[in-house]
Amino acid sequence: MSLENCINELRAKMPDICSDDADILAPHLVEWRDRWQGSTPLLISPKSTQEVAEIVKICGKHKSPLTVQGGNTGLCGGQIPQGEILLSTQRLNKIRHADKDNMNIVCESGVTLLEAQQAANAIGLKFPLSLASEGTCTIGGNLSTNAGGIQVLKYGTAKELVFGVEAVLANGEIYNGLSSLRKDNTGYDLSRLLLGAEGTLGIITAASLKLSAKPREVVRVMVAVASPEKAVAFMNHARIGTHLAMFEFIPRLALEYVTTNIPDQRDPFANKHSNYVLLDWEFDQAGHGQDFANDLLETALEQNLIEDAVVAQSEAQAAALLNLRENLSASQKPVGATVKHDITVELAKTPEFIKRANKAMLDKYPDCHPLPFGHFGDGNIHYNVGQPKGMESRDFMALEGEINEIIYDIVDDLGGSISAEHGIGILKKDQLEKRADAAKMRTMRTLKTALDPDGILNPRILF
Ligand SMILES: Cc1cc2nc3c(=O)[nH]c(=O)nc-3n(C[C@H](O)[C@H](O)[C@H](O)COP(=O)(O)OP(=O)(O)OC[C@H]3O[C@@H](n4cnc5c(N)ncnc54)[C@H](O)[C@@H]3O)c2cc1C
Repeated sequence: MSLENCINELRAKMPDICSDDADILAPHLVEWRDRWQGSTPLLISPKSTQEVAEIVKICGKHKSPLTVQGGNTGLCGGQIPQGEILLSTQRLNKIRHADKDNMNIVCESGVTLLEAQQAANAIGLKFPLSLASEGTCTIGGNLSTNAGGIQVLKYGTAKELVFGVEAVLANGEIYNGLSSLRKDNTGYDLSRLLLGAEGTLGIITAASLKLSAKPREVVRVMVAVASPEKAVAFMNHARIGTHLAMFEFIPRLALEYVTTNIPDQRDPFANKHSNYVLLDWEFDQAGHGQDFANDLLETALEQNLIEDAVVAQSEAQAAALLNLRENLSASQKPVGATVKHDITVELAKTPEFIKRANKAMLDKYPDCHPLPFGHFGDGNIHYNVGQPKGMESRDFMALEGEINEIIYDIVDDLGGSISAEHGIGILKKDQLEKRADAAKMRTMRTLKTALDPDGILNPRILF
């Protein structure tokens, strides 16, 4: 029983899917922001569920843990191995089935989110999960982190967009939960247990995804608002019927970063404003959207809820507006180090959270740059704190622990969550331990021990 014996057995039995070539390994061992650097003695890239099962059985026999990786876009470090064998799902990349009548597709876990969206589109339907990383992130990663994104407001998180999954459990058994039934009350729902489990209870190998009807018309608008309070008031005004599908908050500083640091991005407004909201209204019938938007924006202006608005007049303009939002994360990289949080509070409490967090940060670190942005409509704020000018990045990141304590204390005080959509990974496990309900943590540990007693699957994650 040793890692070496395990590697020898895997190599002997599956030589064509094993690699220790440094060039092939390299992109799997860094996270896109260079936050984590990993190492692995072996990358193994199975092409079928049966191969995944065989790998897990061999690892179990030798008690050698695995780290699972999909598209490597995760923001909590869980997909980066630290000496374990690395299992990549990149070759589990087939769309197995697409069914217009039942409104579902079955795809393997290494299919990218964009490919899943395209497969839905090909049968005239929509897979409504949408993230800036969609060209690279995978369905397995999306389900394992219960990803959110920009359309949660209308369609829900990844968890709500799946009928069931196929997975390999820690003992090497294949669980087939690829049902596409809309009703199935037959005891514990094992698929649900694996959603958001970050690869700790099973390796998802395929999923049956729920599709939606495509809207006939989408109107995208960017509005300028004076404050987060006004954004909440405007959201109440804009939330008519089931039309509102996206509601993203962008403060001025973020817009400046994007227009300065990312090529070909421009401020769509003639004047500067302190905050913006980017939103989509979707319609089942074509031809009424622009009138609906114009009426609603006019009354919002009259009621002093918004300061100005830009309504996209073409697909190109709509894409340009969305690009401003999608480039926010990348645009911060050149500015220096940023301490990031992905928190959620009830929608009505978002202004209070932003106010309290900004004050706390500026009181303690006077020249820092608070940057709250994100999925405001879900109460989900990506609360970033940029380093003060003149400070070394390393010195600022050394403050991360104390900054986190301050921010998460405010979140706790407001009854929120320290992880809205990115998960726990290795980044937040200490905070989870400290802040989560004790019964929840005990039950999570009991489940992990029952399903993976030897700690074969992602053993460093969550706990
Ligand atoms: C620019 C950018 C924008 C983003 N925007 C959003 C956003 O709006 N909303 C959001 O929620 N996230 C966002 N993310 C985070 C990330 O894209 C998501 O968490 C995504 O779901 C991760 O998918 P992945 O395939 O890259 O997973 P990875 O990064 O490879 O893995 C993430 C975790 O899932 C586990 N895992 C991966 N595949 C499997 C599998 N098949 N079975 C079991 N476990 C598995 C890994 O072990 C790891 O713990 C963003 C990231 C970037 C870089």
